Amino acid sequence: MLRDFFELTLPELSAWLEEQNEKPFHARQIFRWVYDKSVFNWEEMSNLSKDLRAKLTAAFRLGTLETVRMTESQDRQTFKFLWKLRDGNMVESVLICSGTRRTVCVSSQVGCPAKCAFCASGKAGFMRNLRPHEIVEQVVQINRWLSAKDERVCHLVYMGMGEPFKNYEAVTASIRLLSAPEGLNISQRRITVSTVGVIEGIKRLTHDDLKIKLVLSLHAPSQHIRQKIIPYARKYPLNELISAMDDYWEKTKRDITYEYTLIAGINDSPEQAFELAHLLKGKQCTVNLIPYNPVAGLKLQRPDKKAIKDFRSVLFGCRIANTCRYTKGDDIAAACGQLAFQQKSQEKLIALPELKDAV
Ligand code: SF4
Repeated sequence: MLRDFFELTLPELSAWLEEQNEKPFHARQIFRWVYDKSVFNWEEMSNLSKDLRAKLTAAFRLGTLETVRMTESQDRQTFKFLWKLRDGNMVESVLICSGTRRTVCVSSQVGCPAKCAFCASGKAGFMRNLRPHEIVEQVVQINRWLSAKDERVCHLVYMGMGEPFKNYEAVTASIRLLSAPEGLNISQRRITVSTVGVIEGIKRLTHDDLKIKLVLSLHAPSQHIRQKIIPYARKYPLNELISAMDDYWEKTKRDITYEYTLIAGINDSPEQAFELAHLLKGKQCTVNLIPYNPVAGLKLQRPDKKAIKDFRSVLFGCRIANTCRYTKGDDIAAACGQLAFQQKSQEKLIALPELKDAV
């Protein structure tokens, strides 16, 4: 049975080479071909013997994602990729360009079991967890596309389709592979995982050796409002969640970001801003406010500019550090909460011949 190359570590490949009576140093050559030179075809690896290339072809699958399409935002700063998996399911990833920074937002599941009220992924239902290689390949493929322009992926956020901590093993395996020096070498400090509040995942990360950033999608200052927006909140009560986040900070001393999607008439009043400030008082954290991004079929609305300003003023007055993330890519439904896996689209399509030849 073929194994998926994008799940292999360097030591695993070295061990396999030894089993094949080949020199283990070829492992580094192979990793260089794939991750540095973006070559996804064994036959093109010219410094490997014909015999070894044949063994690799017989043993490993070098990529499984098929590019269905890529769409580009009007300002040409955000690119959304739709991939078809081997079983026919679809997932999306987003590339966000800002100055020289190239950030990829990956999906960790097909659909999402969390079913947050404002989210297209939740609305679409849950199909299955992604395997580590399917997560790694989203980034590797986009990096390959960027490499043609002499650019590289340097930041990674697990904020696409899915709840990462409901697929903890695969997500953390993909982080280790993508941050490995012989892989894409993306610093773990530039990798962010966002959870909607899966307490067992937060606890595992607290004791894990990963040096990544953690974001909690809070979205409400009270249990009452939170469980209206996030069905998972019934399973993960706010007081237990905040206590898990406090433990995480105590153990890791790594800054925490609380994301808060502002939805008109639901969680955007000055009173709720005071409640939020009270909840987070004294904590080393930043609140990232995200004005709601419209999702077709949902009746929720984005607050107006004054409501956002008033909300922020309360937080500033209470000395709660906060930022407001202005939407990137909402014209191609690539903004936060807008990812889904339907094929239908009114968006501008771009042919990507160079991505279609992945083996
Ligand atoms: S916001 Fe995140 S956790 Fe909630 S349904 Fe959407 S993808 Fe899932």
